Amino acid sequence: MSTQEELSYKSTCSYCGVGCGLIVKKDKKGQISLKGDPDHPVNKGMLCSKGMNLNYVVADDSDRLLQPQMRWGKSHPLEKVEWDIALERASAVFKSIIAKHGPDAVAFYVSGQCLTEEYYLVNKLTKGFLKTNNIDTNSRLCMSSAVMGYIKTLGEDSVPISYEDIELADCFFVAGANPAWCHPILWRRIEQHKEENPEVKIIVADPRATQSCSIADLHLQLNPGTDEILFLAIGRCIIEQGDIDLSFIKNHTDGFDAYRDQVMTTTLKEASEICGVSIEEIKLAASYIGNAKAFLSLWTMGLNQSADGVNKNLALIDLNLITGNIGKPGAGPFSLTGQPNAMGGREVGGMATLLACHRNLNNPEHRKEVADFWGVDKISPNPGKTATQIFEGLEDGSIKAIWVICTNPLVSMPEARKVENALKKARFVVVQDISNKNETIPYADLVLPAAGWGEKEGTMTNSERRISHLSQFKSPPGEALPDAEILIQFAKKMKFSGFEFNNMAEVYAEYCQLTKNTNIDISGLDYDYLKHQGTVQWPFLNKTQGGTKRLFTDRKFYTPNNRAQILTSGLKNSYEKATPEFPLILTTGRIRDQWHTMTRTGKVNKLNSHIPSPFLEIHPDDAKARGVKEGDTVLVSGLRGEVRVHAQITDKIKKGMVFIPMHWGKILGNDFARANNLTGNSLDPVSKQPDFKYSVVQVALYKTV
Ligand code: SF4
Repeated sequence: MSTQEELSYKSTCSYCGVGCGLIVKKDKKGQISLKGDPDHPVNKGMLCSKGMNLNYVVADDSDRLLQPQMRWGKSHPLEKVEWDIALERASAVFKSIIAKHGPDAVAFYVSGQCLTEEYYLVNKLTKGFLKTNNIDTNSRLCMSSAVMGYIKTLGEDSVPISYEDIELADCFFVAGANPAWCHPILWRRIEQHKEENPEVKIIVADPRATQSCSIADLHLQLNPGTDEILFLAIGRCIIEQGDIDLSFIKNHTDGFDAYRDQVMTTTLKEASEICGVSIEEIKLAASYIGNAKAFLSLWTMGLNQSADGVNKNLALIDLNLITGNIGKPGAGPFSLTGQPNAMGGREVGGMATLLACHRNLNNPEHRKEVADFWGVDKISPNPGKTATQIFEGLEDGSIKAIWVICTNPLVSMPEARKVENALKKARFVVVQDISNKNETIPYADLVLPAAGWGEKEGTMTNSERRISHLSQFKSPPGEALPDAEILIQFAKKMKFSGFEFNNMAEVYAEYCQLTKNTNIDISGLDYDYLKHQGTVQWPFLNKTQGGTKRLFTDRKFYTPNNRAQILTSGLKNSYEKATPEFPLILTTGRIRDQWHTMTRTGKVNKLNSHIPSPFLEIHPDDAKARGVKEGDTVLVSGLRGEVRVHAQITDKIKKGMVFIPMHWGKILGNDFARANNLTGNSLDPVSKQPDFKYSVVQVALYKTV
């Protein structure tokens, strides 16, 4: 409720994919405070440390980009320019490159933090009007393997569950995820459920004993990279225990016979040796899952960020399918999205390999449907370049210009030196961001100041398909503009028709119509309803029926024959090989109180105090063998670069592997703290998601404490 003294707004946290609801208050002096929305179905008033400190980020404009800046030549400094000159230059360069080298010589690289309207516009601009599918997103780095896992097994990229299923499940299998730190409020709900129902079983599979293991009944501390073998071994035990759902398998799936043959090729003894998990632990996990009335599997980067990411997804989803744990309360395969709007981006086709509303880029009819809707002659059949391929294209010269929106690839992309090299070779780099701390700016020819969270209106979709409206409660500083506004103005400079929007409600209304008659249909939704109702889950056909909590309750899947596909991969191992020179396996990940490359969370003292500096987790035996003591500075070297960080010696990590957080980069930390100096560019062949979890390295003492 707003008064003259204080204004009140509803919004959604802009960090992780949990999507917690907020109530933001602004007093008459303009000071912002916030709290968790007690009526919000996701967080019921709770917030984690990142969410509850968002007001400090919004209040501090000291690092904000305030005006467009342009370089008149590669050796010239960035100079402030008018918006009109900046966008004129961008359109002139894009036109000239496309005329000379074709549309695939330009690319956009965007972010899972973009609002759905922004994602929709940039896809319309590139795929519809610039005639290239070279539009990819940093969501490629977190969940494209899950997208392919869902498409292959269920027919479309559709998360079948609702958060309400948490309180209805009696067994959780958390694989390759640390939700206690990375999805804290969702984890809090699991904790509460376990506190109230101690018989609920929680299994965690992770080579590290993370915070999420603290309430686990079983921690499967597997060897890095062996997840798929572990899941298949558990599947074998479930079959041998007689705990499969034969009726569901027979009536609603294909592929079980091949699956059974596959899992029987590896004995439990072999699987136990490969995975470093005892036969008893494998059997116990299988009995927990097999005896559950409602089984929920949860996963994220630990499976997705892998050269075998899709296969790992398939093997985990198989456990839900062979036990019939899908389309019923408390059950389903649940991929946790990392970013706040990774899901919204997927809906509008915000990746190089997707088309809007789960349409298929390879399908000529789907391309025609979207082209007709946008009033353009065609959409190119050429697959677009994915995240790492875009930077390779810049490096080899096939891509000349890149437009980076709301992301910091120099810190977040694998093999950072390669990204640096690619940006140096690019003919034209546009960086559109809120912060002058974005490490990509020194390579930019054009810098465009964008509005941040709370300074623009729009929508996002969280991990459970829940769409929420985010209110504007603050003016952008300086001349910063909402990303959507910048894209619309650029499109107009390019003389494209179809961008005559007066506000975000009109953009969203257009997108909603494109969803009509698809499985994510929200054609009956509008901003007024969203603002009034707060949130809805897609599909949403009309206001009478409302949204959809759970998919596949009729056991009809989105595959051509409506049957789910139980799929196996054939157990490839495409990881780097450890050598005497580089004998340790590096995995990277997040810490509790930082978000991505710290451009926002790094501004908050309270958050920095949790873990103030980058570190290397190393097992006591590996540390001792190298003469390393707690707190020493170590040199971590690999095939692609080096990192110098403090050693944190812990038996919570498996012997033979080490861990470095991914957050620190050049400016906020220093070059030598950047974990992605060490990671490689190997991709899952199907999802094109890079592997951040398996790089071979060596550790040596650099300086004692
Ligand atoms: Fe924000 Fe995620 Fe924390 Fe919720 S759990 S407050 S969405 S960071």
